[in-house]
Amino acid sequence: SAPLIEPFQPAGPLSVSFEFFPPKTEAMQEQLWACIRRLEPLHPSFVSVTYGAGGSTRERTHETVARIREETTLTPAAHLTCVAATQGEVDAVARAYWDAGVRHIVALRGDPPEAGTRYQPHPGGYPFALDLVKGLRKVADFEISVAAYPEGHPEATSLDADLDNLKRKIDAGATRAITQFFFDVDAYRRFMDRVRAAGITVPVIPGILPVASFSTVTRFAAACGASIPAWMGPLFEGLDDEPETRKLVAATVAMEQCRALAADGIHNFHFYTLNRPDLVHAICHVLGVRASAPGTPNAAPADKGERS
Ligand code: FAD
Repeated sequence: SAPLIEPFQPAGPLSVSFEFFPPKTEAMQEQLWACIRRLEPLHPSFVSVTYGAGGSTRERTHETVARIREETTLTPAAHLTCVAATQGEVDAVARAYWDAGVRHIVALRGDPPEAGTRYQPHPGGYPFALDLVKGLRKVADFEISVAAYPEGHPEATSLDADLDNLKRKIDAGATRAITQFFFDVDAYRRFMDRVRAAGITVPVIPGILPVASFSTVTRFAAACGASIPAWMGPLFEGLDDEPETRKLVAATVAMEQCRALAADGIHNFHFYTLNRPDLVHAICHVLGVRASAPGTPNAAPADKGERS
């Protein structure tokens, strides 16, 4: 008889990347490094480290990225925002990354330092991510990734204007986009149809957020314009005090999401790890992304130039 779960058969080799945030305390530092060491054998094509709101983690992001470069086999990417800083300050941060051997920047506008206030470009700063991409190209020959929004950025005047903004960021030199998290796979499919119709050919990698806490994710989603499909609430209902069950449900949801995307031919996935390895490790395992020595056939290939 047919197996309950069909063995996973992706159309091509899968490639994954992982996102971490810089730790604030000694305990968080230990948690991050345990997470990095657990995920390292999966050979992600890169790992990225976020930049706190308004550049608040400038030093901690740099330290984390530099340490990943020096002490692991991983290729790090540094997130960099242009909010609340002059062009000179942002360029200096970028130059320090280049000097430290870091070659990949995730270039972002960032959000206003005070949540809920309207975004105002810094008078001497790069106004938008597009301008940051152009500025980075002048600093050094970085590989640049940018953000994309399958359901639209909340401040965009229209979905078309938002797509046009993405196209301009790519045309300015970004070679990859990573999406905001989403749970509505059809929304991503519709977005990708529009992305390809607009002539964007670089990978636009789905950002996958395993749901560690449904209430937190609901709050994040409202702030960043991601929808919570109607089927999700009942799935997580009553699990607030059931962390183990919640984890299993969250893993199932993310696996189903990835399997649906992979069935569409998507083979690059970016995981928002929240510095917790378990769910991401399990999802990667189901996707067939396994630990292997670098350079062996099982090692994930670089994602550059692939379809998704
Ligand atoms: P942009 O591409 O500049 O777009 C921002 C908005 O402005 C959009 O609505 C766009 O349509 C509009 N727009 C663009 N140009 C113009 C123009 N000329 N005139 C008027 N409107 C315009 N935030 C952090 O603080 N640190 C991080 O590390 C971080 N990492 C992220 C990683 C990913 C993968 C994603 C998806 C987001 C991340 N963010 C991070 C959040 C990001 O900073 C916010 O979503 C921010 O609000 C927009 O950034 P952006 O780079 O997409 O901006």
